[in-house]
Parts: sequence; structure tokens; C-alpha cells
Amino acid sequence: MPNISSKLPDIGTTIFSVMSKLAAQHQAVNLSQGFPDFPPKKKLMEAAEEALNGNHHQYALMVGNAKLREQLATKYSKKYTVQIDAEKEITITAGGTQAIFTAIQAVVKPNDEVLLFAPCYDSYSPAVTLAGGKCVYYNMLPPNFKIDWNEVRKLVSDKTKLIIFNSPHNPTGSLLSADDMAQLKSILQHTNALLLSDEVYEHIVFDNEKHYSFLADEELRSRSFVIFSFGKTYHVTGWKIGYCIAPEKLTSEFRKAHQFNVFSVSSFAQEAFANVLDFPEMYHSLSSFYETKRNYFRSLLADSSFEFLPCKGTYFQVASYKNISSKSDIEFCKWLTAEKGVAAIPVSVFYAENNNNVNLVRFCFAKQESTLECAAERLKGL
Ligand code: GLN
Repeated sequence: MPNISSKLPDIGTTIFSVMSKLAAQHQAVNLSQGFPDFPPKKKLMEAAEEALNGNHHQYALMVGNAKLREQLATKYSKKYTVQIDAEKEITITAGGTQAIFTAIQAVVKPNDEVLLFAPCYDSYSPAVTLAGGKCVYYNMLPPNFKIDWNEVRKLVSDKTKLIIFNSPHNPTGSLLSADDMAQLKSILQHTNALLLSDEVYEHIVFDNEKHYSFLADEELRSRSFVIFSFGKTYHVTGWKIGYCIAPEKLTSEFRKAHQFNVFSVSSFAQEAFANVLDFPEMYHSLSSFYETKRNYFRSLLADSSFEFLPCKGTYFQVASYKNISSKSDIEFCKWLTAEKGVAAIPVSVFYAENNNNVNLVRFCFAKQESTLECAAERLKGL
């Protein structure tokens, strides 16, 4: 057996697989990995059935179903009053994570720096490492996970190839504000850095707050890969379909990597989305739908000793367990799953140095009321 020198020596199995496996082992209510436990809308199921019964079984176009890209161009051109070219600027991917991975491989070269805002989704840094890049971190801290832009300014240099943003933010549920966008723009004036904006939770924003998309601002858009996910918007995370919108030059580099990674993605699923995309009522109520779930989950646990942090978007609620246990969050989540029968995600894994002092866990509330009630029943004595 030859010696293998790992390209990712510090990386184990993603926390989402670890916790979902543990949840299954202990028959715990799984509020860890983010996915809905209710069915998608009937209209989408019917569109999928129609696509399956039609002639959509061979390779889709490498860049994605033409009608679907047209529909997306129309959706975002209208929404943000911009011109988006379906042919040159939109690529359909096998979910948000693949789009993020591909964008990073497309532009990051060895020794390039990539600026990440921790806590961040766990796929970002391994993708940078595989491209030979170096992660530089700005740590956002609880309870509000605000960004101090004067500190960010110090981290941006000629070496910065890419800056990765995520709003609405997983795991914290925070949002970038109008002021954040203005501050970012002022920093960018002096750099050549590209941007990657992970906007997979674009339609899940609470309390009448606003989602600021990087597509809405010409200056930001001109250097951004903006990534979206049908899974989050249409309750079908397992279909693994997402997309990347980027200016022609960036899209052209993106597609060079995409074509030799997945080539193209599920043809019938793309056809199904192409046929439901002009029914915006399918996602217009998503914010209030999930806001109700957030409020219900919080009310069920109002008498527990968990302290809930602000949650302005996404379908995740971060909670402090400092009044319940002094265990590290990883140990606490394992204990919660095995002993109390509820699985959650430890927040420290989203920081660079597995910052074990945050004492925070993330619950996914994209669940039926009965699931949330069952979890609350098990947690309420804590
Ligand atoms: N995005 C989902 C989450 O944060 C999980 C994705 C995955 O399991 N790879 O829970």
C-alpha cells in the first residue's frame, strides 16, 4: 500500500453526515442537518412527474436547461432591475455546494488568499485548500455576529483573490445590512478581489427585514459569483439542483471547471423547475411560512434554559446552552442526541480553530409542527 499524503489532512467527515448518522442511531428527532421533513408543493411534484413521462432522460445541456435559464434570467432581471443574460451568465449546478466548489476551483490559484467570515458553512475552506489557496478568517461573534469593517479592511490585500459572503447566514441566521454593503463597496475600490455570494436562503427572511442580493448592485455584481439553491426554496434538498449567476467572463471560467466536474445535472428535475418557475406564489410566502415555524419552535421552548439568539433569516435557530451544561458544543450535541433524543449542530465547527468556547448549537426548524413538538417535549425539562 503506497503512502498517501492527504490533500486535506485536517478534514474529517462533514458534521451534517456525522450528526444525521448519530440521530438515526439513537432514533433522535433530527434537528441537525438542514432539510424539511414535509413534502414539496403539489405543483412541483406534478411538473416532475410530467417531465419523467416526457422526453427528458438524456444529458441536459452542459450549462443547463435553456428554458430554465431563461426563466431565471427573467426572475432576477425583474426582481433587481438588472439585465441578466441566460446564455452567458447562468449555469445550472448540482446544488449550491457544487456551485460554490466550482467557483472556487475556477478562480483560486495556489497561494491566493480567500477571505472567509466565520462561522461559515463547512465546505468553503476545504474547497479553497484543494485549489491551493489560503483561508484568511474574520471571526463574527455572538450574539449578533456583526462585522467590524475597519478590521476587515486590514485583512484585504493584493493577495486577496476572493471574498466569500453568505446572507441570510448559515448557521447564525444573521443578515448583511445596507450599511454592510456600502462598507464592502468602499473596501473593494482598492482591490481586485472577486466575490462569491452564497444566497441559497434568499427567500427566507423574517420580521420584514430585507435581503440584499449582490445581483442588485452593478458594482458588486460585476465581480461576483452569486449562488442559489432550488432545494431550499422548493423543499427538495435531495434533488440537488442549484445555479450560479455571474458576469460573462466569470461564467466562462466557471463553466471550464463545471464541464469536467459534473458536465450537466439531472435533466428531468431541471425540466420540472423550468415549468414551475413562473409561479412566484410558490415561494412568495416562504418567509412568513418559516417565520411562523421559528416563532412556534421558540415558544415551545420558552420555559427551557436555552437562550435563543436573534434569527433574521434561514431555517436555523442558534441557541446558547450555557445555563444547561459546561460541555463543549460537540460533546453537548452528542449527549443531547444520545441521552435526550434530539440532534443539533455544534456551532464551533464553523469556526477555523474549532472555537469550543461559543457554547452554541444550531437547531433546524424546517419541520412539521408535530416534529417540533416532539423535540420540544424532549428538551423542555432542560
Ligand atoms: N446546508 C445544510 C445545512 O447547513 C446541509 C447540507 C449538507 O448536508 N451537505 O444543514
